[in-house]
Amino acid sequence: MPKALVIGGSLGGLLAANLLRSIGWKVQVFERVGDDLASRGAGIGTHEELLDVMDRIGIKVDASIGVHPESRTCLDRAGQLQHKMPRPRILSSWGRLYRAMKDAFPVDDYFFDKSLISFTDDASGVTAVFADGTAAQGDLIVGADGIRSTVRAQILPEAQPQYAGYIAWRGLIPESALPEELHREMFAHNMVCYPDGDAATMYAVPGPNNDVRPGHRAYNWVWYHPVSSEGLAALCTDASGVCHGTAIPPALIRPEVIAEMRATARRVIAPQCVQVIDLTEQPFFQAIFDLASPRLFVKRAAILGDAAFVARPHVGMGVTKAALDAESLADALQQCGDIDAALARFNDRQHLFGTRVIARARRVGAHLGAQATKPPETWTPEERHQDPLRMMIESGARLRDVPELIELVRANRGGRAERSDTPMAVVQP
Ligand SMILES: Cc1cc2nc3c(=O)[nH]c(=O)nc-3n(C[C@H](O)[C@H](O)[C@H](O)COP(=O)(O)OP(=O)(O)OC[C@H]3O[C@@H](n4cnc5c(N)ncnc54)[C@H](O)[C@@H]3O)c2cc1C
Repeated sequence: MPKALVIGGSLGGLLAANLLRSIGWKVQVFERVGDDLASRGAGIGTHEELLDVMDRIGIKVDASIGVHPESRTCLDRAGQLQHKMPRPRILSSWGRLYRAMKDAFPVDDYFFDKSLISFTDDASGVTAVFADGTAAQGDLIVGADGIRSTVRAQILPEAQPQYAGYIAWRGLIPESALPEELHREMFAHNMVCYPDGDAATMYAVPGPNNDVRPGHRAYNWVWYHPVSSEGLAALCTDASGVCHGTAIPPALIRPEVIAEMRATARRVIAPQCVQVIDLTEQPFFQAIFDLASPRLFVKRAAILGDAAFVARPHVGMGVTKAALDAESLADALQQCGDIDAALARFNDRQHLFGTRVIARARRVGAHLGAQATKPPETWTPEERHQDPLRMMIESGARLRDVPELIELVRANRGGRAERSDTPMAVVQP
């Protein structure tokens, strides 16, 4: 039986591991973090194609998978209604998806506290070497180790993440913490606010222990705001003066940084959104990056998910792209019989898909990236003005509404049936 070593046990790694197992491979997953990742918070916008892949793995996709807002509602900076759209996508949470995928995979083949430091790839197969001095052998190594991938750094060192010029402030508050009036106005909807140069989105997600019962859910928010590279270094500097690069643990963010963030929010986004932000005890931020790899494999090492391409999050495609990468890899291995031919086929299919996903995500976030990085006189028309209606349509689109993406998915899937209706827990205020 052929054997795959999957590096990274987050969503991309688990999707690949479960799918490779389903085609008859022996799979081991190696995750750098020391224990269960389920507490990683934050909301995840889903696509039907992600749920298809979960179905294929054998995960039950039912109403508990997420919450379904009644509308996508856009407020202007003053808090007045600008636009309203029906039928937004299902919104789940990272923890809910992780739990389902982790539980589907044999516990004995998932190893925590295993940080890959390098691997060799020769006629006898691949050998992964970990920081604790242990090693593992297989026929294929799959780098699902995220934006700072060690697998990618070894095979394609030229592929480096590029800072996009803005960050995402994020937070999650318990449903019960929302005052009644704010709950009534916001909770049943995906509220968005797109004043020029900023973008906020807020929506209900499953609560602790993936609870979707009214009163037990959470409200998730993301606010994209331009920050220069120098500004980012300052934000990532803790109270003792240590700069943590481009990502700082939430607990180390200085109180004055959070106070300044709250003050800026008051100036630039709708007051209802500010109220939600103010109710958040521990806001945190993530810098937004673009990453495009020139190819998806070298010899017997493949990369997928964020290790391969990182799309700005406005299009809510990261996890779905990881699922489609994993599906394409498993299909190619099953169809080709020969690993080298399969990797070439995987690359032919998914490299173009990743390229198109990030091109679209860059376009949607162009004006945010330009604010702090380019002089206004050099801005392109896309960078100059943010049209809230266009933002709503582009960032809320289903995959099947984006012709350049869905044509590739359909070609890859070769006529496999598409999900037409997903059961969902409609938000009941
Ligand atoms: C603000 C924001 C909002 C987002 N919203 C959405 C959304 O709505 N919908 C959506 O689909 N996506 C969204 N995304 C993107 C999504 O989170 C990612 O695309 C997705 O999590 C990628 O998963 P991954 O498994 O490829 O990488 P990761 O989740 O980064 O996992 C990589 C794993 O590899 C492990 N690892 C790293 N190095 C090593 C090593 N050397 N050895 C062993 N293990 C290692 C890490 O510990 C980690 O667990 C958002 C992202 C951001 C920043």
